[in-house]
Amino acid sequence: MVYVICPRCKKRIGSYEIECLFCGFPLQTYLQDSGIEDLKKKIMCTRCGKQSNGLAGAVELKCDYCDIPMVQLMYNDQEFSKMYNDSLNGLAEKVMENLGIDTLELERMIQRKDPRIIEEMTRIKGGNPYVIFLKQQFPSTFDINAFEGREAQEIPRCPKCGSTNIKFNLEFVSWMAAQGQEPISDGVFKDNKCVNCGFKW
Ligand SMILES: [Zn+2]
Ligand SMILES: [Zn+2]
Ligand SMILES: [Zn+2]
Repeated sequence: MVYVICPRCKKRIGSYEIECLFCGFPLQTYLQDSGIEDLKKKIMCTRCGKQSNGLAGAVELKCDYCDIPMVQLMYNDQEFSKMYNDSLNGLAEKVMENLGIDTLELERMIQRKDPRIIEEMTRIKGGNPYVIFLKQQFPSTFDINAFEGREAQEIPRCPKCGSTNIKFNLEFVSWMAAQGQEPISDGVFKDNKCVNCGFKW
């Protein structure tokens, strides 16, 4: 069974419900009006790039940041990731060459989210590679200001002092995570420590 997040009350409901069980939101009408018919396809906001990745076990249907419906793409998550990775073809090699590092060191740097990786990729591509990719994918709707505004909102902060100077222990990373593409939440990070106040969580 596929679950969705009700665009109005944000509760998790079955995708087949005609109306939200909690608030009466007309789900099927919304899906139809938004052109969402296959929840197995990738669903995202083509304005700010927010992904409806169903991390809470449910598909988001509305972008909270832009306050507009998510868009269903023609392809699924895997195909989307592949397209993005294809757009990075040869980039890792160039980064290693420019920074004078080997594959092992590159992986280490990605794991600790070393900013030099994205800086170097940005230099080589002439812009943030993920932003360039999104702009190519959604030329008429993508808005760099919305993308950057949302990203800034999603920067993790120390729960105690609010500092962004945090040392993360990464449980799982990938090229995508290094791009900041995956939302920084839901158990991706564990045993974090605030460099500013020393708080651990
Ligand atoms: Zn609802
Ligand atoms: Zn958005
Ligand atoms: Zn702190």
